[in-house]
Amino acid sequence: MSPSPSINRPRARPRINATLTELPYEHAILDRRLRLRSWTAQLAELLQLPDGVLRIGVPCADLLPLAARFSVFMPGGDEDPFRQLLEQARQGQIYAFEATLADGHVFDIRTTHLNGGGFVLSFTDLTTRRAHIELGQLTLRVFTHAPDGIIFTDSSHRVIAANPLSGQIIGFEPDDLLDCTIFSLVDPIHPGTEKKLTQSLSETGFWIGETELRRKNGDNLPVSIQASRIDDPLTGQPTHYVWHIADISERRHAEAEMRHITRHDALTGLPNRKTLAARLSELLPEARRHQQRLAVLVIDLDHFKLINDALGHRIGDEVLLQVAQRLARLFRDNDYVARFGGDEFVVILPVIGSPADAATVAKKIVDALAAPFTVEEHELHTSPSIGIALFPSDGDDGDSLLKNADTAMYHAKAVGRNDFQFFASEMNRLTSERLDLEKKLRHALSRGELTLDYQPQFAADACQPVGVEALLRWRHPVDGLIPPGRFIPVTEEIGIIVEIGEWVLINACRQMRRWLDDGLAPLRLAVNVSARQLRQRDFCEMVAGALAVSGLPPELLEIEITESGVMENPQESIDILQRLCAMGVTLAIDDFGTGYSSLAYLKLFPIDRLKIDRSFVADIEHDLNDRAIACGAIALAHSLNLRVIAEGVETEEQYRLLRDNGCDEIQGYLLSKPLSAADAFAFLHARCPAR
Ligand code: C2E
Ligand code: MG
Ligand code: MG
Repeated sequence: MSPSPSINRPRARPRINATLTELPYEHAILDRRLRLRSWTAQLAELLQLPDGVLRIGVPCADLLPLAARFSVFMPGGDEDPFRQLLEQARQGQIYAFEATLADGHVFDIRTTHLNGGGFVLSFTDLTTRRAHIELGQLTLRVFTHAPDGIIFTDSSHRVIAANPLSGQIIGFEPDDLLDCTIFSLVDPIHPGTEKKLTQSLSETGFWIGETELRRKNGDNLPVSIQASRIDDPLTGQPTHYVWHIADISERRHAEAEMRHITRHDALTGLPNRKTLAARLSELLPEARRHQQRLAVLVIDLDHFKLINDALGHRIGDEVLLQVAQRLARLFRDNDYVARFGGDEFVVILPVIGSPADAATVAKKIVDALAAPFTVEEHELHTSPSIGIALFPSDGDDGDSLLKNADTAMYHAKAVGRNDFQFFASEMNRLTSERLDLEKKLRHALSRGELTLDYQPQFAADACQPVGVEALLRWRHPVDGLIPPGRFIPVTEEIGIIVEIGEWVLINACRQMRRWLDDGLAPLRLAVNVSARQLRQRDFCEMVAGALAVSGLPPELLEIEITESGVMENPQESIDILQRLCAMGVTLAIDDFGTGYSSLAYLKLFPIDRLKIDRSFVADIEHDLNDRAIACGAIALAHSLNLRVIAEGVETEEQYRLLRDNGCDEIQGYLLSKPLSAADAFAFLHARCPAR
């Protein structure tokens, strides 16, 4: 109720009147004789008095019954409180009562005496005041129990009030927050927040968004914030800010879970197609910028449908799960393995050095899926067909890389499954050649395509044969003679050198035994052994077995092992070579000079002979370096009490140089090429018949 000046004001008391009309309630002023002197504008309306009733000089006694008729008075009963009031007023007593007027408003009606007589009759609307108080109490309750944190800050963002929940959210007692600026909780985590928020608050009056708060215990907490500015209605300047803060960690968690669900395959938990595509589109610009190669491998399981059809989806799913686990184990450090649905998986190799790296990984995948899968009582086999596409050569974007890897995968299926194919044709040619070689090699032994040649070795001074080296030959019925340099590394890689090596040893020993039986004087038989064979746990037993079945005396057998072969694992080599030595077998280090032998180790090996590699012999006449190495090797060998043989001696000059520098033995085309068994026997028997 706003005060309004009376329309009629006695001149004698202008000051009092001026003051009274400023009071925040309706009132009337009565003089000593209890006649109306002035009143506020809304009084007639408030008391529901007819127009014209309020006049100067009207006795109060006439007015009040009139008011009483239109109003319901509270302390009820028969007694008219207005009459009482008048009574008391006459006697100079203060009187007050509460009344409910016709419109339902509750008023405090009271008299206040004026000095010098007369009194003020005031009507204070309690309804509004009570409503204000109730509203205040309600506001406080809301503030206290609100499901959000609410913080009030002053114009410089210092906390002046914080409800209990805001304290709980931030992990502080609300009082601890007082006087801190709100930004001391936000800005350290996301610098720049203060600037962003203050700018928005000053421009638009509010800020709504999500950020993180630093809790008292140091944790970061995701929150949503709604901040609003409160301005002074008169000046328009900000006086306060209200901050609604809600803990959204649960929602974030749910969102993250949802994201995980939408981005991952439900069965295997691997990223799904969508996620992989997104990763690719992140990785490709990186690869482009750094000019790096990237490979996409599409893996499809061979004959997986058979498992599903025969044993049902439950078993099929379990196999897929195990496949996923094996793949995930291979690519532990990053999650670039995805399931594309069905039995199709995709792997991204973000940075590869060369296409061969992708091939190595593809091979690893083939190996990883080779072992059977056990599901319930079933032992199931599946194998992958893998297609490889390379960035940038096979495609510039994710879609074309995936498409081309897919094409390559179908190609892999077409050429025989359980293997991989590159999309690029050149690589395909190389890998299919290599594949072809592997396939043929696996049958070489059983189909009798392997034979042994024998190359005699001679004493340097007398050119008399002292030994013979068995050299493996592979004659393929279609491809003809394939040089050992091409196929032996492959046999080592795929492991069949173990089997082939055993065949070589047994056959060479048997051959020598037969020659001895046929009248050849005892000669040393040198057999090449690769590092892969040496590492075989039962290698010494295998050698002993070959000697036993052939009946060759151990001292006639010499094992040639390359320098790099023994150096792969020197300590282990020493043990094995010592056991061979104990059996009476002699040992030669082949291709000496090509590796990085540690002389300290060489001294520890129980070896008998060093074979100077033919690459040093080839240029020994012209290249002083080679000559120095060859001669140095001879001197070194002698100082270690080893004998020296030079291989690859093709010219008289080479022979003379080596002999003159103390080389003990010679092997090479100059004195004899590798010969077939029959030719070797004829050659050797002619020079070394048994006595
Ligand atoms: P290696 O053990 O150093 O054998 C000597 C190689 O030099 C043989 O080549 C031989 O034919 C060749 N050679 C001999 N004299 C001359 C010559 O005067 N001039 C030239 N240019 N070459 C000569 P091959 O038979 O091609 O064997 C190559 C390599 O294959 C061997 O080198 C050996 O490391 C490996 N190898 C051969 N047979 C076997 C085997 O049964 N087992 C294993 N593990 N490796 C074998
Ligand atoms: Mg050799
Ligand atoms: Mg050699």
